[in-house]
Amino acid sequence: MAKILIVEDEPDILELLSYNLRQAGYEVFTAAEGEEGLRLAEEQIPDLVVLDLMLPGMDGLELCRLLKQRESLRRVPVLMLTAKAEEVDRIVGLELGADDYVTKPFSPRELVLRIKAILRRGTAKPEEDEVEGRIAIGPLVIDPTAHQVQVASRTVDLTATEFRLLHTLAQRRGRVQTRDELLEVVWGYQYSGYGRTVDTHIRRLREKLGEACDWVETVRGVGYRFRREPG
Ligand code: CA
Repeated sequence: MAKILIVEDEPDILELLSYNLRQAGYEVFTAAEGEEGLRLAEEQIPDLVVLDLMLPGMDGLELCRLLKQRESLRRVPVLMLTAKAEEVDRIVGLELGADDYVTKPFSPRELVLRIKAILRRGTAKPEEDEVEGRIAIGPLVIDPTAHQVQVASRTVDLTATEFRLLHTLAQRRGRVQTRDELLEVVWGYQYSGYGRTVDTHIRRLREKLGEACDWVETVRGVGYRFRREPG
């Protein structure tokens, strides 16, 4: 049974979430503040953390940063809850490693589906295409075995999600990928409506790729495409 830690200071939301996640078969631990959340995380090593952004005392961003600094917890996916859509860029943009976010108000059912998707991709064996050889195109070298990307021999530090996104696009180079397709392949979501997640990650990925950023093209009104040749 997967263990989920919820850190949320609003009692109603905490209760609603705990109830729904227990119903879905998860073992649930809860904390109403950051310090307690950190202590529980270290003690329980959960399979996933649902973390509210705005907490009294240590906030969600700080707690996320601390979790990602700990060797035993750095691979634990973090799903951030936020009340404001404007905070999304901060959450994904910062080097915090939050794997995903959900904006409040959310439906518990939707949240459970997202959690299932995150846990599924975390435990999935490397897919066949992931063990395929490395991709070298233009200044980019993508090595799926080492999970490493280089641009003109400089190693680029990507999050797990950014890596999957780039790798997926590069494998399908020359072909447009819609946001829904990317959500399904990269995030494991079988439903649409999270195009903004894709856009935010693409923007961050391009920033990190630096001079190689234009290899990832926007196809207006459709999605994204990795170039076949230098533009
Ligand atoms: Ca809060």
